[in-house]
Amino acid sequence: MKVITSPVEIQTVAQDFRAKQLTIGLVPTMGFFHNGHVALMKEAGRRADKVIVSLFVNPLQFGPSEDFDTYPHAFEKDCQIAEDAGVDILYTPNKKDMYSEEFATTIQVKGLTSGLCGGDRPGHFDGVTTVVGKLFNQTLPHIAVFGEKDFQQLAVIRQFVRDLDFPISIIGYPIVREANGLAMSSRNSYLKKDEMDAALCLSTAIRYAKNLVRKQQNIAVSDIEKKVADTLLKHSECTIDYIQIVHQNTLQNCTQISSDSILLIAVKINNRIRLIDNSKLTGG
Ligand code: AMP
Repeated sequence: MKVITSPVEIQTVAQDFRAKQLTIGLVPTMGFFHNGHVALMKEAGRRADKVIVSLFVNPLQFGPSEDFDTYPHAFEKDCQIAEDAGVDILYTPNKKDMYSEEFATTIQVKGLTSGLCGGDRPGHFDGVTTVVGKLFNQTLPHIAVFGEKDFQQLAVIRQFVRDLDFPISIIGYPIVREANGLAMSSRNSYLKKDEMDAALCLSTAIRYAKNLVRKQQNIAVSDIEKKVADTLLKHSECTIDYIQIVHQNTLQNCTQISSDSILLIAVKINNRIRLIDNSKLTGG
C-alpha cells in the first residue's frame, strides 16, 4: 500500500490508473479505523480494480464547539488496517494543501441538509459536500462507498452527485455493529465504561421500535417516537438531539410507517459525546 499526501500526486496516479483502464473505488474517511471502515474498504475492493482510502479530518465540517481538535487518531495502526483490507492507496492530504488561504468555494445542498444533523450542526453538510467534491476531483473514482450509519450524509451526497453530474456511482453500505448492537464509530473511543452502557440505549431503542411496528402495524408515527424517547431517557446520561421517522429518500417526516420509513436518532451522552444510529422499521 502506498501513502500519498499530495493532491497533485494522487490525481496523477488516478489519471494513470484510468489510462490503464483500471477502475477506481474511493472510501472517504476521517481515520481511526474500525470494522465499519474495513467493510467499506473491502466493498470498494469488490467493485473496483484499485481502492483509494482518503484519511482527512476535515475542519470545514466541525462546528466551533465540536471535537475537531480532539478527534481520535492512530496513523500507524490505520496504515496497517488499510493494508490488511487490501487498500492500494491511503491518501492523507494536509490541511493547507486542501484549503489554501484563498480558498473561497462551498458546495451546498439545500433541503436535505436543513433538518436532523443539519439542524443540530449548522454548516456541517456544506463542509462534507465541499471536501467530498474536492476528493472526487483529486482521486477520480468510478465508485465511492459511504456508510448508511451516516444516513443523511449518504442522501446528501447522492443528491449533489446527481445535481453536479459527477460520473460516480455512490454505494451505500449497511451499518456495522459491535456484538452488543452498538453501531461502530470512531467516537465510541470517547466513551468511558459506564457511558458505553448508556450508549447501548440507541440500538436498544431501535430494536424496541421495530418490535412495536411488528406487533402493531398501524401504530402512529408519533407514538413510536414518543415511546423511543421514553426508552432513551431512562438513561440519565442521555439527552436527545432528535428522534425522527422519515422517508428514506426525501428525509421528510412520514405520516405512516411503510417499507420506506427510517428511524433516525441522535443523542448526546453526558452532553459530551454525540452518537447517531438509524434503522428501517420494517423487514429484517
Ligand atoms: P468517518 O471516518 O466516521 O467519517 O466515516 C467514514 C465512512 O465510514 C463514512 O461513510 C461512514 O458512514 C462510514 N462508517 C462509519 N461507521 C460505520 C459503521 N459502523 N458501519 C458502516 N459504515 C460506517
